[in-house]
Order: sequence, then structure tokens, then C-alpha cells
Amino acid sequence: MAFEGLAERLQGTIQRIKGKGKVSEADVKEMMREVRFALIEADVNLKVVKEFVKKVSERAVGADVMKSLTPGQQVIKIVKDELTELMGGDQSPIQFANKPPTVIMMVGLQGAGKTTTTGKLANILRKKYNRNPLLVAADIYRPAAIQQLQTIGKQLSFPVFSLGTDVSPVEIVRQALEKAKEDHNDVVIIDTAGRLHIDEALMQELKDIRALKEPDEVFLVVDSMTGQDAVNVAQNFNETVGITGVILTKLDGDTRGGAALSIRSVAQKPIKFVGMGEKMDALEAFHPERMASRILG
Ligand code: GDP
Repeated sequence: MAFEGLAERLQGTIQRIKGKGKVSEADVKEMMREVRFALIEADVNLKVVKEFVKKVSERAVGADVMKSLTPGQQVIKIVKDELTELMGGDQSPIQFANKPPTVIMMVGLQGAGKTTTTGKLANILRKKYNRNPLLVAADIYRPAAIQQLQTIGKQLSFPVFSLGTDVSPVEIVRQALEKAKEDHNDVVIIDTAGRLHIDEALMQELKDIRALKEPDEVFLVVDSMTGQDAVNVAQNFNETVGITGVILTKLDGDTRGGAALSIRSVAQKPIKFVGMGEKMDALEAFHPERMASRILG
């Protein structure tokens, strides 16, 4: 279960402060020591932990909190507010093009869940937004990836555009955009090659695709279970390639949640969706406030 470890760690300290009729600065300090410990154990970026603890501490020892009738609950509310803020505040919606088709590019490292997530995202676009997406197999370096996307397309009844492995990704996208126009697909989701690391070829590919049509969204798919590595990958992709948002996969198996808590603050890009399982309906919009509630119980 996502965040289980962190939630468990925080429960004790929350229960203790909740019931207090009076809260002293020492109580807040003690609580924040435990919060800091819990966040570090959850693999949250150290700088993020430091800033978080400082912000909460400053607000919590304010006179309005200390003198209120329910100081313990106020302190917990501050922790919840700041956790929500840390994860991006409001839920971040999909950006659609004013004039269709909306172009969404999926990028990421191999094995992060990019192809699976392409199918899941198409599902959400159809069910929730009533859109009619075309999936584009632009991973020409791995024939199995094209097959995998075709299988997913078949399973979910989505058209998949492919020109095999001999045509360049930019040409595939160019023709896919034409096809989308003909067939009235209002969203085009491009499954780009999964990389082992960010390289020149990827940069060039993205540049070429951008020259055809600037994507409305560039989603980085990262594996939540890789913790701070996921955060570094997000920062790196954002600086070199430029992304508009993050999709964090495998949160269902991540008891720690360090990536979910750090990415927004470190990479400066919102988490838009989270993968919660292998099934095709296991993708959810990321709601920072709900996540914070889940963590705090
Ligand atoms: P790609 O190389 O990035 O395209 O990765 P794939 O889409 O092939 O996914 C790699 C593995 O991760 C597959 O076994 C997926 O079923 C699995 N996977 C993807 N997303 C999730 C998720 O949110 N939760 C879980 N538990 N598994 C996932």
C-alpha cells in the first residue's frame, strides 16, 4: 500500500499531539523531530525535509495556534496543509490543445511503465474526457515495444499507428498527425523510446518532433519505487528535455513515498497521475490533498 510506512510512523506522534489541551514549543519541537525522522526514512530529499520542517515549525509555534482551543489539531492541520503544498497544492489538470488534436508525448527510462501508462491514459481520456485517442508507436529501437502497444490497443479498442522500425520517429509522428486528422482523433499519444539514460539521440528526436508540432503535454513516466533516483531523473529530464508533468507509476507498491513527496519541489513539475497497479484502469489523477490525508490517517 502506498505510503504505508510513512503513515504508520506518523500515527503515533499525531495521536499524541491531537489530544493535547495545551501545546508548548517543546511539544512542537518534539513532534517535528519525529516528522523529520519519518520523512527521511520515507526517502524524501533531505533539502525538502529541512524546508518542510522549518515551515511547519514556524507556523505551528505562532500565537494564534498556541492560544487556540484545539492547538493539537491546528498543528496537524498545518502539517497536512504543508504536505499538500509540497506535493503541488491543487490537482494539476491535463492541458488540451485549443485546436485538436492534443498531442501528448510519453517519455521515460526503460521499464518505468511508459507503454502500460500510455494505454491507461488513453482509457482515462476516453472515459473521463470523452476523447478519441490515437496511440502512436514511436519506439523504433525495440520491436517488442511496438507489439506491446498494439496488444494494449487491441485490448482496449484504441487505434495504434505504427510504421515498424525502419522509419524515423519524426516521420512516424508526422504521418500519425495526418492520420489523426483523417480519422478525427482528438488526442494523439506518442509512446517514445524508453531509454537507459538521457542521450543525444533522444534530445534530437524530441526536438524534431517539436518542430512538427509542439506537444501540449510531455509526460515523464517514472517508477515511484526508485525513490530519489526517480526525483533525479525528473529533474534531469526537465532540465534537458523539458517536461510538462510527471506520471508516477507503481505507487501501489511504494510504502515509502519519497518520490511522490519530493518530485514537485525538486523538479518543479507537477505529478499529474499516479499508477496504482498493473491493470488498465489503475491510473488515477494525483490529488495532493487526498494523498496528504492518506498519509496522516
Ligand atoms: P516501459 O518499458 O516503460 O514501457 O514499461 P512497461 O509499460 O513495459 O512496464 C513495465 C512493468 O511495470 C510492466 O510489468 C507493468 O505491468 C508494470 N507497471 C507499470 N505501471 C505499474 C503500476 O502503476 N503498478 C504496478 N504494480 N506495476 C506497473
